[in-house]
Amino acid sequence: MAKITLDNLAHSYLPNPKSEDDFALKQMTHDWADGEAYALLGSSGCGKSTLLNIISGLLIPSQGRILFDGVDVTDQPTAARNIAQVFQFPVVYDTMTVKENLAFPLKNRGLPADEIARRVQKVGAMIGMEAELNRKARGLTADAKQKISLGRGMVREDVNALLFDEPLTVIDPHMKWELRTQLKKLHHDFGHTMIYVTHDQTEALTFADKVVVMYDGRVVQIGTPEELFETPEHTFVGYFIGSPGMNVLPARIEGDRAMVGDGSIPLARGYGALKGKVEIGVRPEYGRLVTQGGLPVTVNRVEDVGRHKIIRATFFGHDINLVAGEDQQVPADGARVEFEPERVNVYSDDWRVVGQAA
Ligand code: ADP
Ligand code: MG
Repeated sequence: MAKITLDNLAHSYLPNPKSEDDFALKQMTHDWADGEAYALLGSSGCGKSTLLNIISGLLIPSQGRILFDGVDVTDQPTAARNIAQVFQFPVVYDTMTVKENLAFPLKNRGLPADEIARRVQKVGAMIGMEAELNRKARGLTADAKQKISLGRGMVREDVNALLFDEPLTVIDPHMKWELRTQLKKLHHDFGHTMIYVTHDQTEALTFADKVVVMYDGRVVQIGTPEELFETPEHTFVGYFIGSPGMNVLPARIEGDRAMVGDGSIPLARGYGALKGKVEIGVRPEYGRLVTQGGLPVTVNRVEDVGRHKIIRATFFGHDINLVAGEDQQVPADGARVEFEPERVNVYSDDWRVVGQAA
């Protein structure tokens, strides 16, 4: 197990990158703590696989260094990095049995036969394939083959890190939950440093201690699920996480009030002059329909989603979403909304601004 450090790392697939736009990964520096389970979350194309492949050594970064426990491994090949990586699509040996596939990484490292048998049995159970251990991989479904790939990633106990790149994409939905649970258990039992790439927020939030959110080649926030929910550092985190995501509205800030159109919203903190694009962000959960006070809002539609309602509304010309309890009365007209001042975040050019205590 190891702490992984990215030191001024950046990557371009072009031979002569000229501007920042030419970089699939913009310059970044940070540590992945030893023994922590991370999810790397972001939309397709934001650079997740690029980053993972740099960590595993499949890709040499065009700039910066990568260190394991302080030792520079930038120029070391994958094999020397002692890492297990599982990809989106299965990588299995068709002519081998399931058991032989699972044993392969251990045989390679010369483990004793009884130790190999013990671990193969255990991992076979974790991926739900005990009954198929003696079958040839050829002829198995893509789903089953991917479970073997996962098992091969899980079978070694001595790795520096376990890297998973959207490993459950081809897995049947109800099996996904089961396998994710097994991965969490594996992390609990062995404490490997784990990085799990996904574009699915539910997967990220249920798997990881810490979620690393990427957007357009940058890490925009690293935090616990709660931190990402309560204090999105970037507007992208606000609307990517949560369902529906955070409301982001263009605003003018005047001291401790935000003006959205003609509506004046009280803030918990005061702000000086802000540059660039100024917006406020408030989660649907923190806007409340009230009969007195607050500001006018036009309710367009109410969606009952079981334990709560989602209210689609217009607020000073902007679409917003609100979440209300299932017992909440929603007036047909004359509705008003109140936002919790300490839950209204202020953004300048998409980054959160910390105000001064009012
Ligand atoms: P993700 O895994 O988040 O979907 P990737 O890391 O695969 O994103 O891709 C990041 C960016 O780099 C994308 O714009 C993608 O088109 C580009 N890219 C990825 N792999 C290559 C490659 N081998 N050659 C050129 N461009 C690539
Ligand atoms: Mg990818």
